Amino acid sequence: MSRYIDADALKKRYREVAFKDGMTEGVVRFLIETNIDSAPSVVPQAKEGEWSLTLNDDYRCTACGLITSSYKANYCPNCGAKMKGAE
Ligand SMILES: [Zn+2]
Repeated sequence: MSRYIDADALKKRYREVAFKDGMTEGVVRFLIETNIDSAPSVVPQAKEGEWSLTLNDDYRCTACGLITSSYKANYCPNCGAKMKGAE
């Protein structure tokens, strides 16, 4: 099962444990893999937006700025934001 990790926290932890004097490649690999496994998971936040009507009667995604003249889709085809009122 896939999981999301906090890349910044992992980099910080990696800098703390890797490349210390006298470490063999096997020890470094073990530390890296152990720290990846124990890295804190994060829950991605679902992006939300809404279609706003432009002066040219097009629709603009409030999440990413995509302007489209097509119908008001439930999800932005550019950034994937779930649009307000979508089911
Ligand atoms: Zn968008």
